[in-house]
Order: sequence, then C-alpha cells, then structure tokens
Amino acid sequence: MKVIVVGSSHGGYEAVRQLLLDHPEAEIQWYEKGDFVSFLSCGMQLYLEGTVKDVNNVRYATAEGMRAQGVHVFVQQEITSIDPKAHEVTVVDHGGDQNRTEHYDKLILSAGAVPAQIPVPGKDLENIYAMRGRDWAIKLKAKTVDPNVKNVVVIGSGYIGIEAAEVFAEAGMHVTIVELLPRLLSIYLDEEFTSILTKTMAEHGIFAATGQSLKAFEGKDGKVQKVITDQGEYAADLVIETAGIKPNTRWLRETLDLDQRGHIKVDDYFQTSAPDVFAVGDAVMAKFQATGTQAPIALATVARRQGRFAAMNIEKPVHKFPGVLGSSALSVFDYKFASTGIKQGTADNYGVTVKSVFVTDTKRPAFVPAAENPEVYFKLTYEPATRRVMGAQIMSKGDVTANINAISVAIQAEMTIDDLAYADFFFQPGFDRPWNIMNIAAQKAIRTEM
Ligand code: FAD
Repeated sequence: MKVIVVGSSHGGYEAVRQLLLDHPEAEIQWYEKGDFVSFLSCGMQLYLEGTVKDVNNVRYATAEGMRAQGVHVFVQQEITSIDPKAHEVTVVDHGGDQNRTEHYDKLILSAGAVPAQIPVPGKDLENIYAMRGRDWAIKLKAKTVDPNVKNVVVIGSGYIGIEAAEVFAEAGMHVTIVELLPRLLSIYLDEEFTSILTKTMAEHGIFAATGQSLKAFEGKDGKVQKVITDQGEYAADLVIETAGIKPNTRWLRETLDLDQRGHIKVDDYFQTSAPDVFAVGDAVMAKFQATGTQAPIALATVARRQGRFAAMNIEKPVHKFPGVLGSSALSVFDYKFASTGIKQGTADNYGVTVKSVFVTDTKRPAFVPAAENPEVYFKLTYEPATRRVMGAQIMSKGDVTANINAISVAIQAEMTIDDLAYADFFFQPGFDRPWNIMNIAAQKAIRTEM
C-alpha cells in the first residue's frame, strides 16, 4: 500500500506515526510545501518570550528523523491537485523544477488553515503580521526587540490574539486589542472570568477596544501607522491580525465536497467525498461531543486525534471518531484558565438550553496561608432538562486546569450533575480541599434545580 500524507503539522505528523505503527510495510510519502517540517505554532509564544531559544526546536519531527524510520519525506514540495479517479496527485517542487505526478492507494490531507485577513482599506500595508507558522514566528520575534515598535495593535481576542498581546506587553510595548465582540476571549470564557482577565491585562498595559469593528488601516511610506475602527483610532507600529482562520482548501474546490466555509466534508472515519481520500485537522470540522453536531474547532488536540483515526481507518472504516469538546487552556499573566464543552455564552450557537452555576473557593483549606492558597473560580454548565453536564470553565493563579480534563470525561460519559456532585476525588491539603470544586459546583446545581 502506498499512502501519501499532505501537511507536516499536527494532523499529518500523527497520521504518519500511526501508519508506521499499523502498516510498517506501507510506502509512506509525506509532503510539506514549506521549507521546514513539523513547525508547531502552539509553541510560538514560548519562542517569542524567549523560553525556547531556537525557532528550529519548535517542532516534533525532523525530515532526517522520519526518513530514518522509513518515511519518504518531501520538503518544499506542494501537492497542487488530486485526480481521484486515477488516484494521482500533482507535485510541484519548489526547490527544483521537476514537477511530477505521484500515484497513491490512499491519501491523507492535513493541509490546515491560513490566517484570515479582514478585507479593509490598507490591508496590504507593511507591518501587518499574522501569527501562524515558522516564517511569521521569526518576523514577530524581530519585532519584540525592535526599538521602533512602541504601539502594537492586535486584531481579534481568541487564544492567539491574547498570546500575541501578552508577548508584546511583556516586551514593554503598549498593546491595544481590537475585538468585534463585547468581551475578550468570549468564545472560551464567560464574563465572570473575562472581566478579571481584562482588568489584569489593563494592569499590564493592554487596552481592550472591545465591541469595535475594524474599518481601515492607515499608513505612511507604505507602512502601517494607525488602526481605525468604528469607534476610535489607535496608533500602530505593528498590527497582528488574529481574527480567525480559513481552511486551506481553495485548491480542492473542484475535487472534494466542501462546506460553505470551505471545510472539507468528512464522515466519522475522515473519508472525504472521493474514494481513498481522507482529510483531518483545521481543514475539516470536528464532531462536537456535547451536542453531536459539527463545529469548527481548530486545535492541535483535535488534529492529532483526527490524524490518528484517519490512519486507523485507512483500510476499512472501523474506528468511528467519538468527537471532541474543544478542551483548551491558556495562561494570561498570573492567571491560568481552561474550559471545555459549552459555555453559557456559547450555548445559543449550539441550539441548547443550559444553566450554569458559578462558585469560588480557595484552592486549599482556609488554614493554608493566602500566599499559597489562591482563589479558584469555577463555572459548571448543565442541561436542566436532562441534568447532563455540558461544559465547565476554571481559572486561578494556581494551576487547577487539570480539573477541566475531568469535566471533559464527565461530558463524554454523559454524566449528570447528580453523578458529579459526589464523584470521588482525592483530598490532600497540599493540593486541594475535601470537596473538590467540581463536587461543590454540582451540588450547587442540584440545589438550584430543587
Ligand atoms: P496546519 O498546522 O495548518 O499545517 C498544515 C501544514 O500543511 C503546513 O505546514 C502547510 O505548509 C502544509 N501544507 C498545506 N497545503 C499543502 C500542500 N498542498 N502540499 C504540501 N503541504 C501543504 N492548538 C492546541 O491544541 N493548543 C495550543 O496551545 C495551540 N496554540 C496555538 C498557537 C498558535 C499561535 C496557533 C496559530 C495555533 C495554535 N493551536 C493550538 C492550533 C493548532 O496549531 C492547529 O489546530 C494545528 O496546527 C492544525 O494542524 P493541521 O495539521 O490541521 O494544519
């Protein structure tokens, strides 16, 4: 069997690893159009802040390492089209001039996504950057130490925008975040959490220009100088646009069934509309376990799981993908937060009726000195009709984010607030309290429903 895998980021890497395990006899060809294999944007903040010194270390795999395992790795070689009938792809060699076609028995696409660019006047000015991939990482790193950069405007306040804002605020620059929605991070957290984070960010020199619509970029000598919204103007020596992504699927429009936003349509086994062609990662939607519906959840965790399942189903569709919950975590200055499943603020997007309870507690018993006993904020979301746990959010200056993985499992197991209220969790004063905050929230939810 000859398998071609397209894309060397999370989805592609995972598919190749699984193929090596399950089909050691297969001929695996792995294609990356860029000049670097397996760069991890997830590690970009650590590089920009200086924790990781060498940009070339922000990766899982090297071409040499994978070749040593028998994988045929092709760098700077782009798959530009697919002929599903002939089971052939066109390969454009950016490093040479020998373009060619390659036959495949099976094809796995993890071509990912590209940063979306808002089509406003001035969008092509210099110093308007994106934050994805190694090339942008290198350019952004240079700006963190550029004495000419005093004002940075970040467009969009998802995870990536917040990471960018923190990096440049820590580098001593004045940062403004322009966000269309009324709150920062509103896809990830409800207001109880974002109000605290917005205040913390303000204390670190980050101004939140929320509820504002980007109208234009203005500049001089071809370089951006100003960001104009419907409500204000912000000085900008550097703009970082992080207002969403677009599936990288233009080149597949004539070949595969895509949805309206350009995601490749796949079934529960990651088969596309073309026989023997699979697709995973940011270029496809993900099955959202809380509701069983499809959702655009662009996370490495999702791409990795999908890549593995595509490889496991390469011969026969036997392993049905269970779905994901968008579980994710981030630190913002001193705070660490995580969330999973449905939030009160996103329930409408999923067409579900939910209720939530919000609890605060100290991490450890009251006798533990305050300096080692941070406050914990926790919100549990459930469906009153079924009492099923649907989501949760947690935040603290201590690291309590792992609780969210427990809630993710509870949602997957279709547990109710009644199950969670008395679920057995450990206690040791060095870590937590006799009743875990998840128990306390579920008990509060039960009382709310009485
Ligand atoms: P991509 O990462 O988009 O990669 C696609 C690859 O395919 C690219 O290397 C591209 O050059 C190559 N390619 C595309 N088309 C072709 C072609 N035709 N031929 C050959 N090669 C091709 N997720 C988390 O879970 N946790 C995090 O902490 C996290 N942090 C993030 C931080 C940042 C700054 C960013 C940008 C993303 C972050 N993510 C995080 C999201 C995560 O990086 C993505 O979900 C993940 O990279 C998607 O993987 P993918 O395989 O679908 O594609």
